[in-house]
Amino acid sequence: MANEKKAVIVGAGLVGALWAVILAKRGYQVDVYERRSDFRQAGYVGGRSINLALSERGWKAVEIAGIREKIAAVAIPMPGRMMHGTDGSLTYQPYGEEGQAIYSVSRGGLNIELVNIADEFDQVRFHFNQSCLGVDLDNSSIRFEDNRTGVQFAIESDLIFGTDGAFSPVRQSLQKLPRFNYSQHYIDYGYKELSIPANADGSHQMHTNGLHIWPRGQFMLIALPNVDGSFTCTLFLPFEGGASFENLKTEEQVMAFFEKYFPDVIPLMPTLVKEFTENPTSALVTVRCNPWHYRHKILLLGDASHAIVPFFGQGMNAGFEDCTILDALMDKFEENWPAIIEEFNANRPEDANAIADLALLNFIEMRDKVADPKFLLWKKIEKHLHEQFPKEFQSVYSMVSFSHVPYSRALSEVARHEELFGKMLEIKDLENNWNGPEVEAVFREWLAGN
Ligand SMILES: Cc1cc2nc3c(=O)[nH]c(=O)nc-3n(C[C@H](O)[C@H](O)[C@H](O)COP(=O)(O)OP(=O)(O)OC[C@H]3O[C@@H](n4cnc5c(N)ncnc54)[C@H](O)[C@@H]3O)c2cc1C
Repeated sequence: MANEKKAVIVGAGLVGALWAVILAKRGYQVDVYERRSDFRQAGYVGGRSINLALSERGWKAVEIAGIREKIAAVAIPMPGRMMHGTDGSLTYQPYGEEGQAIYSVSRGGLNIELVNIADEFDQVRFHFNQSCLGVDLDNSSIRFEDNRTGVQFAIESDLIFGTDGAFSPVRQSLQKLPRFNYSQHYIDYGYKELSIPANADGSHQMHTNGLHIWPRGQFMLIALPNVDGSFTCTLFLPFEGGASFENLKTEEQVMAFFEKYFPDVIPLMPTLVKEFTENPTSALVTVRCNPWHYRHKILLLGDASHAIVPFFGQGMNAGFEDCTILDALMDKFEENWPAIIEEFNANRPEDANAIADLALLNFIEMRDKVADPKFLLWKKIEKHLHEQFPKEFQSVYSMVSFSHVPYSRALSEVARHEELFGKMLEIKDLENNWNGPEVEAVFREWLAGN
């Protein structure tokens, strides 16, 4: 029974490993089944961006897991974005106020740290090399295959968490149910990882504390710093069409493309062509589904229930927030799982859908708008409004990255803020009148009208 404090977690990725820690802290006996071999010994296979941006929602979960200090010691603050023009010019835009930053952390380092912490609890058992094949829903029984022996077996549990990622076999079993809503949507863009190595002395070749972006209208390159002095770069490009992966097949084509759009990175990437040729081109999917549970016994978390495109740097942060919300609901409902799961499923999918939409919107902002003078003016307006009315005005970016405001509220603010922007632009000589009565009047009127 669920009140025996036993649970099974399928998937020891970022969310599954964190969730194991939280359950273990509450005295649960937890069995975690993972398809991969133990990456603490086998080494963490890279890909899917070797580093990730960790922001406020993620930090809260890292704190609950008790590893804030450990992660903070190897996290690189990125207080703003550094834009690279085609002419090599650099423009810096802070993300928030002084002291606020998102942080570049190693995906593998964080995952290993979470598994280590979970493993310190006697009642947590990790079972590596075990691939989930699906769930027999009526018996609450999960089928596995041992990757090394090919032996198949099943285990039963009254409390199962599917944290097995965007292509979750646990979710696939739920998808067969009548009235299970599911959608997956691939954008027309793919991504490829490239790297900028460290200088000989281990320092970074570009400014360390920033998320570097080369916005090019229909596509972009980004780079996040690593502690070893290197940068992990990700090129987001359409699969087909003019400038696209399908048209970058030969060394000449790759070099001509980089010379035209990203000339400043060529000297920084000595193995550009090799990496471009050898690294895979991966797809980007948004997954939405509902309900996230089956009879309050099987619950999907993280990418298994809400995979999103990476342009807001929120996929992991959102998955971590699932865990912190559930943690609070465990207090609220005294670990009565049907009540916890009922409330979680009543509210959380709306927020997951909202961050999925915000992430898609942010792609347009990153690849295109960040270089637009109108966008830069809006950023200035946002900054002044926040300075003048700190309690009443927060940018959407800040709400998402530096607060715990529900994602659905942040999404609903997008249209409201656009309206405010339009009104601010009507003020004469705005840039010399930030503290004038008109700005305040327009702002107050907008506030009152909403
Ligand atoms: C290019 C890119 C950049 C990103 N950047 C960011 C960022 O900056 N910030 C951010 O917050 N998020 C980012 N994300 C999103 C983030 O990677 C995911 O949201 C996060 O990894 C989700 O964690 P998860 O544990 O739910 O799933 P996963 O990390 O996918 O983990 C799933 C686990 O389940 C295991 N598994 C899968 N199938 C089975 C099976 N059949 N049986 C047993 N185990 C199984 C897998 O091996 C894995 O260990 C990015 C994603 C991409 C693609």
